[in-house]
Amino acid sequence: MTQATDYLATIQATVAKRDPHQPEFQEAVGNFLKTITPVFEAHPEYIKANILGRITEPERAIQFQVAWQDDAGNMQVNRGFRVQFNSAIGPYKGGLRFHPSVNLSIVKFLGFEQIFKNALTGLPIGGGKGGADFNPKGKSDAEIMRFCQSFMIELQRHIGLDLDVPAGDIGVGGREVGYLYGMYKRLRGAERGILTGKGLSYGGSLARPEATGYGLIYYTEAMLKENGKRLAGKKIVVSGAGNVATYAIEKAQAYGATVITASDSNGYVVDPTGIDVARLRRIKEVQRGRMSDYADVVPTATYYEGSVWDADLTYDVALPCATQNEIDATQAKRLIDAGVIAVAEGANMPSTPEAIAAYAQAGVYYGPAKAANAGGVAVSALEMSQDSRRMSDSFETVDGQLKQIMETLFAQSVAAAAEYGVPGDYMAGANIAGFTKVADAMFAQGW
Ligand code: NDP
Repeated sequence: MTQATDYLATIQATVAKRDPHQPEFQEAVGNFLKTITPVFEAHPEYIKANILGRITEPERAIQFQVAWQDDAGNMQVNRGFRVQFNSAIGPYKGGLRFHPSVNLSIVKFLGFEQIFKNALTGLPIGGGKGGADFNPKGKSDAEIMRFCQSFMIELQRHIGLDLDVPAGDIGVGGREVGYLYGMYKRLRGAERGILTGKGLSYGGSLARPEATGYGLIYYTEAMLKENGKRLAGKKIVVSGAGNVATYAIEKAQAYGATVITASDSNGYVVDPTGIDVARLRRIKEVQRGRMSDYADVVPTATYYEGSVWDADLTYDVALPCATQNEIDATQAKRLIDAGVIAVAEGANMPSTPEAIAAYAQAGVYYGPAKAANAGGVAVSALEMSQDSRRMSDSFETVDGQLKQIMETLFAQSVAAAAEYGVPGDYMAGANIAGFTKVADAMFAQGW
């Protein structure tokens, strides 16, 4: 064992011992540590400064009660979180997730990933994440509003323009950000830059709703191009039917690919002619319906219960855009057998460690979440900049910046992987490029 491998093993053991009941957080740290050894071989000064000991422990983790009244007059109580993970390169930045599965482990895994993702964008933002174990499904608009208001009554004391700027994630879209911002404004006054993902009429950025999905496609095209291939003409399977999936489908089809699926937590549709994004958006965003409703109105589509990753389909590219650990080893093998040449992650940590190992073994090009889905937070940072300037940039300007950021971060991952002796390993490259930026900032700032 070298000093570096010794140090990394100690970090993993410390995380496991300190947080034994946080499997998602341990998984995210484990995936990261596996790829980072060459950096510590080259920089023993990071070991002396215990950079990893500090980076794996959030600077601050806040848990709070969210009490709200449902339409029947009953008082409900949920648990809210904000984890402010690392501020070495800028204010904490990361979304809020409202989903019944949310707990400290999930918020910490997301916040940990966010540190390196944000660094990769090249913009001055630190890593954070938050949310609540609230289930928005089946709730009325008034219930959603009361929940968001109560959530913000507590959260407002922990955020600030130069401190922490939240955004959306699963279960938190434009409607929720609007209610959260409305309550913030009543309590603290108008500070447009306090949340991103806002509506256009009160400080939002054009192209923010599209950013994660479009960014995923810009990244995927760059990854394929690096290997002499293109998206045009490819058959794609997408999971999810929310913000990320919808705009990934739209942009992939604009590049000449055919996206044959979309899914939710109940099931998926297969449409060999390509998913109709306008219909999908109407069902999901306006009617707040289910994927089964899509098959009812699109004659070329068939609806199936279960996971799209268990489907018996032939395709070229897989874009998981729903949730963590949605592809396990068996499903990874299935998609490899189906002929997949590339997997790029719109969701955060959608592939289990075993699935990632299977991709590597099969020579599948693998774009990890922290690089491939960084477009959303990148445009959030551009929204912060527009809010400070009190200006609105055009769609073309923001989309152009997004494309450039995604291509640059891919190129940096390629370069970092080559520099540290793991050429072609885009996961290692992303981890190394993101980590060295944060580590250098921490080192320079002392402790
Ligand atoms: P949305 O809430 O808009 O959509 C989530 C989609 O995933 C829905 O179709 C949902 O189905 C499905 N889904 C959620 N949980 C599960 C589950 N346990 N099993 C199967 N399907 C599920 O969220 P987003 O599109 O914003 O986020 C999707 C992923 O992308 C998340 O991992 C998020 O962290 C990541 N991400 C999002 C960014 C953003 O800008 N929004 C930025 C970067 C990453 P159902 O309606 O049935 O719940």
